[in-house]
Amino acid sequence: MSGDAIIARLRAAIGTDQVLEPAVAGDRYRADFSGANPCSPRAVVRPTSTTDLVQIMRICSAAAQPVVVQGGLTGLAGGATPQPGEIAISMERMSGIENMDADSMTATVLAGTPLETVQRAAAAEGLMFPLDLGARGSCTIGGTIATNAGGNQVIRFGMMRNLVLGLEAVLADGTVVTSMNRMLKNNAGYDLKQLFIGTEGTLGIVTRAVLRLWPRQDSRVTAMVALQGFAQAVALLRLAQQHLSGSLSAFEAMWASYYDFVIANIPSLRSPFDASHPMTVLIEAEAADDAANHAAMERLLEEALEQGLIVDAAIAQSERDVSRFWAIRDGIGEVRRLIKPHCSFDISIAISAMPGFLERVDGELAAAFPAVRTLVFGHLGDNNLHLAVTTGHADDLPRLNDIVFAATADAAGSVAAEHGVGVLRRPYLHHARNQVEIDLMWRLKAALDPQGILNTGRVLPAATAEGAAIDCQGNS
Ligand SMILES: Cc1cc2nc3c(=O)[nH]c(=O)nc-3n(C[C@H](O)[C@H](O)[C@H](O)COP(=O)(O)OP(=O)(O)OC[C@H]3O[C@@H](n4cnc5c(N)ncnc54)[C@H](O)[C@@H]3O)c2cc1C
Repeated sequence: MSGDAIIARLRAAIGTDQVLEPAVAGDRYRADFSGANPCSPRAVVRPTSTTDLVQIMRICSAAAQPVVVQGGLTGLAGGATPQPGEIAISMERMSGIENMDADSMTATVLAGTPLETVQRAAAAEGLMFPLDLGARGSCTIGGTIATNAGGNQVIRFGMMRNLVLGLEAVLADGTVVTSMNRMLKNNAGYDLKQLFIGTEGTLGIVTRAVLRLWPRQDSRVTAMVALQGFAQAVALLRLAQQHLSGSLSAFEAMWASYYDFVIANIPSLRSPFDASHPMTVLIEAEAADDAANHAAMERLLEEALEQGLIVDAAIAQSERDVSRFWAIRDGIGEVRRLIKPHCSFDISIAISAMPGFLERVDGELAAAFPAVRTLVFGHLGDNNLHLAVTTGHADDLPRLNDIVFAATADAAGSVAAEHGVGVLRRPYLHHARNQVEIDLMWRLKAALDPQGILNTGRVLPAATAEGAAIDCQGNS
């Protein structure tokens, strides 16, 4: 079937204004937040219901028409960026909260709902939805499920996988899998929702979800502490987990390479410390009782000072201070603009392997590129490091990737901690997964999307007659 004929069928099925041609759609649907390889889709379809989506997928499946799913387009792995010839399915019109159940502490929401909308709706019920990340205003529930997003509070509440009780998804052939479980316990057979969490839209399109809520915590205490080095940060993490036990909600480590760079280059940022330190950590605790929460943080910092783990500390005295501290951590958004071109890494490394990993990466990068700049920060308690690496030259980027990902593999780490594999990390998947694991991914993909029309080329390479798994050796 020709492209025009498919578009005509889609219009007849779901309505003319739900199907935009590229000239009308403009630039909005051409790339995710990574900005890499922008490309106009053949058309943008905007379903308003699961029924619309079923019709879309039946038409695309009959014509073997490849599609890419788009949520809020805040992804950083190129997964939602169209590839030539694809139709983009934007979930932006499937937005809204179907039900808030305060007794069961669940929210039932449509997949295109922005994260912040869910956070606000939960707060209005005296509850909390704990997933939180810088893109909260734009990223969608469907996108955060598809990427199994992490963010700022993983140390306490886990990643998106821990927050989803049930979901509904549409498969490549239009089959609807309704698995809207609302209970914490349900071992009746396979937990099918896991097929769609963290699989980046390659196995199905999430349309609705049942999310788990928590009681709202009214007290938040935030501290910024300065340390002599990594060993002290690890000891402080252990102490914080003891002292703050269930209330520790963030432990964000910033190496001097990152901290000093953002303070020096982003005029709006002010450090609470006069001097530079090898490491700075942002610690946050949330609890119901404000006095007890503050007292626990003060005891932690006193003991850390006595043990010689920290050299300086500042506790936020106002919401303004809290925002100031977090702005330093979130300065990475601005860094992406300041150091172009650069490689942005989102990797997982066991804490005990981090010092050796960083030493090797620093050494190999400096040997290959004497003018290299590497900024390091991360969610230390989640084993998650973010590195921004630049030499100032786009030609060097592939070699930077090779050095960092090879060291990640040798440290038995992961090349994709929370942002997903998408297209950009796909050549490096074999550094984090063995061949049996990759083969099993192929078998799942073939079972659920035999024609390879759904988000094809994300996570795994596009299928070829010769056997595509070869591409996973790193040459795409
Ligand atoms: C400023 C900023 C800060 C960020 N901070 C974090 C962070 O702390 N932690 C973190 O984990 N990520 C972070 N991210 C990355 C990003 O926000 C997340 O990956 C988010 O989950 C993407 O959601 P989205 O709706 O924008 O998805 P998109 O970017 O639109 O899509 C992402 C992937 O999911 C697929 N997809 C989207 N919707 C669906 C659906 N309904 N069904 C099936 N597949 C779908 C897409 O095809 C694509 O493969 C950040 C991004 C920015 C810009």
